[in-house]
Amino acid sequence: MPDNRKTLLLLCFFLFTGGLSARADTLVPLRTQAGTSDWNIKKSKHFIIHYREAPKEYISKVKRCAEHYYRSITDYLGFRRFNFWTWDERCKIYLYPNRREYLKETPSVSWSRGGVHIIRKEIATYVEKEEFLDYVLPHELGHIVFREVVGFDKKLPLWIDEAVALLQEKDRQKYLAAARELVREGRHIPLEALSKIRSYKRVSPLTFYSQSASIVEFLLEEFGRGRFITFCRRLRDGKDWKKALLGTYRFEDLSALEEAWVDSLID
Ligand SMILES: [Zn+2]
Repeated sequence: MPDNRKTLLLLCFFLFTGGLSARADTLVPLRTQAGTSDWNIKKSKHFIIHYREAPKEYISKVKRCAEHYYRSITDYLGFRRFNFWTWDERCKIYLYPNRREYLKETPSVSWSRGGVHIIRKEIATYVEKEEFLDYVLPHELGHIVFREVVGFDKKLPLWIDEAVALLQEKDRQKYLAAARELVREGRHIPLEALSKIRSYKRVSPLTFYSQSASIVEFLLEEFGRGRFITFCRRLRDGKDWKKALLGTYRFEDLSALEEAWVDSLID
């Protein structure tokens, strides 16, 4: 199985450090109890929410938030007018009644607070986990929406996937500010090296996430959504990610892109 496809069969685990979320992704498939038993179901236009015991108001709130994020993510990335947009199957959200049941029924490590299976469009967490609505849900939907558009089988560096997801979170401005600091202090990772990072283990999560988010934000703001859609379309058509990126944004190489990004933060 290609690396990238494996990366998409993952659970995102959530740690929180210094007010900013940091994640370590592992390759454990999400094992929800889909369709097997005692789930209650609430449907909306793009989502099917599965729950067992949960206050009615909380389920309504999850439904409202999920639809809100769906709209805001597709708007933010310019995908609303994307003519090959498909969402043929609704995204499934599994809300376990509590942490104990969540840990028992999913192959999660003890500090996990949420998981996603991107290809199956499934998100799992437990009821009233406070970070869920502001961080986990928009982050994982960001992953799902982006991959729905570019294709689940495409080989991309981790920073592109994670940047798109991270930019949907409540604290995106904190990440962008952290990236500015990194650049001003000359501590950022060269883009060529950043593109080779396939695991979070050898890098500071804050540096990795902040820088990734900042570069994609730069591309979106400096060159507009139309250009980003062109980039996504080229990825979807199977073009190599580096050729698609450099060709769409008209940079000679990754260093030239890095330099333009650095300049935008220093000015
Ligand atoms: Zn992620």
